[in-house]
Amino acid sequence: MLTQAQLSCRQADRQRHDLNKNDTKYWGVIHLTSLDLSKPPICLMYLPFLLVLWCTFDAFIWKNGRYSEVPPLELDSTDYEGSIIIIGAGPAGISAAYTLEYFGFRNYQILEAKEEIGGRVQEMDDFIDIPLDLGAEWIHTHPRILQDMILFNDTVTEETIVYRPERYRQVLGDRVKVPLPLRWLFYREWKFKSTTWKSYLNDYMHTYVQDRVQLNTPVTTIDYTGAKIQVTTAAGDTLEADKVILAVPPTMLKNGRIEYVPDLPTAKTTEIDKVVPYEGFKIWFEFDEQFYKDYTILDSYRIYFDGVFEKPTGRNVLTMLSAGGAETSDLIKLSDEELFEFHMNELDTIFRGKASEHYIQHRVQNWSKEPFIEESWEAGYTPPFHQGTILQPVDDKIYFAGAYLNEPHFASVHGAILSGRQVAQKVLLDAT
Ligand SMILES: Cc1cc2nc3c(=O)[nH]c(=O)nc-3n(C[C@H](O)[C@H](O)[C@H](O)COP(=O)(O)OP(=O)(O)OC[C@H]3O[C@@H](n4cnc5c(N)ncnc54)[C@H](O)[C@@H]3O)c2cc1C
Repeated sequence: MLTQAQLSCRQADRQRHDLNKNDTKYWGVIHLTSLDLSKPPICLMYLPFLLVLWCTFDAFIWKNGRYSEVPPLELDSTDYEGSIIIIGAGPAGISAAYTLEYFGFRNYQILEAKEEIGGRVQEMDDFIDIPLDLGAEWIHTHPRILQDMILFNDTVTEETIVYRPERYRQVLGDRVKVPLPLRWLFYREWKFKSTTWKSYLNDYMHTYVQDRVQLNTPVTTIDYTGAKIQVTTAAGDTLEADKVILAVPPTMLKNGRIEYVPDLPTAKTTEIDKVVPYEGFKIWFEFDEQFYKDYTILDSYRIYFDGVFEKPTGRNVLTMLSAGGAETSDLIKLSDEELFEFHMNELDTIFRGKASEHYIQHRVQNWSKEPFIEESWEAGYTPPFHQGTILQPVDDKIYFAGAYLNEPHFASVHGAILSGRQVAQKVLLDAT
């Protein structure tokens, strides 16, 4: 039953609607029966103006991107005399070390579990004639950040490309082709042209800290009971430090891969548990013909894209990126060979047998099964999330760094680099 007040509201709405229909400036519908071609409807008259406005806006966005300035440093140098151990040599850990070097602090070392630095920033240089990113690949902000993240006097010479796929296809469960959503009009990203995130990390940051990195050294226990922190490795060695910067993926923290003595405070673990890492993998297929479009979207979590889009190579590489979602959770359990077969079948279904016809080689990188990583990237967090609680050191001794701790560059390589910088600076500021 409608109340009197609701009835009069509806009446007022209807009157407003009738008024609008009679109004010459009515924008909603062009009434074909009353269309006078000598007087085009007002929405058509504004069309050229709107087009010019859109093109200007588009050019502006492409030039500038959504860019958040890199915060200035708060320190010139340090006279801190303690020692620091950085755990994890991904972009966050390497950047923390690079920042310490820049401030003239040298009493630190980096312990990395794997045989290589970089974490989720890796490249494969033996697949085709140019290196391809195994993990992170896009530059999710304007590429001027590459120079802005440099502390020493290096000039970044890396060339980048605007990543704007033009030929796309959206395939839904029933293989129906539908247009891409409107949000694609606002999509802006970049990639390295013929280099990778790994070469950037190597050439501009790792090069300053490489003599301090100890590879193949997984940390198993952090004991912060005493004045000095005891860091024990899988080989059973124990190292001592005054401060620890923990730059490992959040999944490693959530899955309890490192033991803490005493346990980390509940407030800290509660917030860490709210971080939502995505499972994920990538597969590269080389074909002798490009029968696919720049971008083929299966759903929100799984895409096939031209893996060498605008890159200087004559080879054809199609990349599958699967991250998050129920299907990814099932797929990551498969062996590499099963993953390959599943996706070849899928491609043959979408492209009517062309995948098998033109196949040359493939490579699989299952990030969820990668030791010491076990995830792709962090999709977000369960609110209310208090990032500041994780950023606060435990007992003024253990600090946390990583892509999941940077705003506004959450879950990105540059976010990880800026987080490492911020935390290294905080350690020195807190200590002096
Ligand atoms: C498939 C994929 C695609 C991605 N795409 C993009 C993209 O296009 N653009 C983008 O900006 N970002 C992307 N990302 C995310 C990006 O790679 C991460 O945000 C970034 O690498 C995080 O850096 P990090 O230093 O915080 O962690 P990581 O890179 O994970 O480094 C952590 C390091 O800690 C080490 N470690 C772990 N446990 C221990 C231990 N117990 N002892 C010692 N060392 C340990 C690990 O071995 C690793 O080297 C992608 C990631 C993946 C996997």
